This record gives sequence, structure tokens and C-alpha cells, in this order.
Amino acid sequence: MNLDKLKEVLKGEPSFRYKQAWQAVFVDLIEDWDENTTLPKAIRDRLKEECPLEIKSTAFDSNKTDTTKALILLEDGSQIETVLMMHKDGRNTVCVSSQVGCPVGCVFCATGTLGLGRNLTVSEIVLQVLFFGRYLKKNYKENTRITNIVYMGMGEPFMNYDNVMASIKLLNDKDAFNIGARHISVSTSGVVTGIKKFAKEPLQLNLAISLHAPNDALRSELMPINKRFGIEKVMAAVEEYKNDRGRQIMFEYLMMDGINDKEEHARQLIRLLGEDTSLYMVNLIRYNPTGKFKPSLTQNIKKFKNILMRAGIKVSERFAFGQDINAACGQLALKNKKQ
Ligand code: SAH
Ligand code: SF4
Repeated sequence: MNLDKLKEVLKGEPSFRYKQAWQAVFVDLIEDWDENTTLPKAIRDRLKEECPLEIKSTAFDSNKTDTTKALILLEDGSQIETVLMMHKDGRNTVCVSSQVGCPVGCVFCATGTLGLGRNLTVSEIVLQVLFFGRYLKKNYKENTRITNIVYMGMGEPFMNYDNVMASIKLLNDKDAFNIGARHISVSTSGVVTGIKKFAKEPLQLNLAISLHAPNDALRSELMPINKRFGIEKVMAAVEEYKNDRGRQIMFEYLMMDGINDKEEHARQLIRLLGEDTSLYMVNLIRYNPTGKFKPSLTQNIKKFKNILMRAGIKVSERFAFGQDINAACGQLALKNKKQ
């Protein structure tokens, strides 16, 4: 499916036709133009021919954790992954990819070892959400909707800034998915130029920073991007964002055994976050092993968490969704590539 083709086909038509087609794709979630009853047959036939709605994919169910992962095949043969997490409180979150592979090359991340394929187009980002919108409609009650989006799949969103923002506008559009800006989060490895631009966006979006280490030496070892945008620069941009927007910022911190999970790291992190942490939240993520490192022991995660909490920092632990289907960053695409 390619949304750009939709625009092309309807170019000469009155604008209400575009609205009808839009509604059919994003609200009625049709999978074939024949399901539509509002557009004239001649237009439907052209759309069938030039803008087929099929999304090629393989879905992997995870019964244990209500996580479903889909591997989507793009027109040029590249593959991307996208994950649906169904939470007990009724939220349904889709984790979307922004690039094929990722140029940042973090050593702990399976996507990073794939290298950069290319940026995804707006249509390719949005169709991941469309895929799961259709999936929910088919497999659950009609009113089961996608409520949240996180840009935490493959790729660095701020290295594909314009397409990511355009996709967000579409997902937020009242006439399309209608997902509230406050329910959309973008995670970055610390692309400072992107954080600065993001701070100026009119929508009330959420920002997450993949920190993973509290000092430059360790962070540069784990995340090569730190050599370009060191911790100080990242924190200065975050501070600016905080003052400009007054919105909460989430720091993601992977817990890797013996690497970044010691008491001294927790203390360094407290110092790094500074005096006023009222708008900061640290999310401790148990590392999903992809080869090189081991996840931290539960007792060490607890200890780390307690040290932060005693310093008055808000801490959450991310529940490891879908480990049985390798739903962590990049794992499945990598496996498939190797086969
Ligand atoms: N590139 C962006 C967004 C995608 S990664 C970023 O790095 O922020 C989404 C999150 O998954 C990041 O915090 C990333 O560090 C984390 N991640 C990478 N590999 C992981 C693994 N093996 N287990 C758990 N989380 C991982
Ligand atoms: Fe890219 Fe994020 Fe993986 Fe780092 S953690 S390689 S930035 S996807």
C-alpha cells in the first residue's frame, strides 16, 4: 500500500472524494476498495489498480503477554517490524519503526547491527498503524482502537525528522486515526538538533531520551552517537525543552548486567538529572538479550530503582512485553535476515 498513490489517483476529483477515500482507509479500515460503498465504481476500479490496500506481512502472536509483532514487507523488498501491545487497562499501543535498520549503531541493539537501509516514507510509517488497526477490528470488538503510538521500533526517528512529523500529523488527524498528541511518544538516542526542533512543534507530544549510561565514557562505548552529541549537550537540549514546554520527559535506561547497573551508576544518574527532577521520569528497561550483554538481575534492578527513588526521582520499570516472540528492538528482522 502506498498512500501517495491515493493522492495521485484522486488529484482531479472534487475534494469530498478525497475525504471519502480517506474515511474508507483510516476510519472504516477497509482492506479492499470493493468494501467501499461511497466512491463511484470507476474511481474504485482505478484505486484498485493503482493504489491497492494490501499490506504484506507476517504476524506473530504472543499469547503470554498480549503482544503481537508484525514483520512488514515493503515495496522494495525491505522489511520492518512493528509491535502491538494490548494493556490490561484498555490501552492499545503500537510501536512503530521510522527507518529500515539504524545508522546509530548502539552496540546493545539488534537494529543497530543491521546498519542503515533507508528512511521510511510517511506512508510506510503510517501503514504500520493501519495494519494493527485492521488487526484489532478483525480479531476483537469493533470498537477496539489503537490508543497510543510510540516511535520505538527500528530506527532513529530524529534522523528521519520530517517524515516522522508528517506521519504524526496524520495519526493525530481527526478525520483519520484521531490519536491524541499526548498519547504519541517519540524516543531518540539523543539527536540534539532533533530535540531542539521537537521543542518547537505545536502538538503536545511526548519526548523520551535513550540515556542508558550516566557518564560520557560509558555512553560513548555503548552508543557511538554520544561522541557527536555528548551527555552535556543532550541534557542542555532536554533542559531547554523542559523550560519551553513544561512537559514531562522520560529517560529510558536499559539495565545490563555489570555494565551500567551498579550503585555508582545510579548515583551518577542522580547527579546528572540535577536538582529539579519534577518533570523527569526514569524508565528502567530490563535488557532483552540480543547476544552481547545479559539483563540485570532482578535484585539489582530493585536496588538501582530504590536509590533513584530515595533521591526523589520518579521511576518506572518497563514490563518486558513479548520476549517469547523477540519483540525487542530489531531482534526479529535480524533473525529473518540471517535465515
Ligand atoms: N532509536 C530510538 C528509538 C528506537 S529504540 C532510540 O534509541 O531511542 C527504542 C528503545 O529500545 C531504546 O530506548 C533502545 O535503547 C531500546 N533497546 C534497544 N535494544 C534493546 C534491547 N535489546 N532490549 C531492550 N531495549 C532495547
Ligand atoms: Fe538505533 Fe535506537 Fe537501536 Fe540505537 S537503540 S541502534 S538509536 S534503534
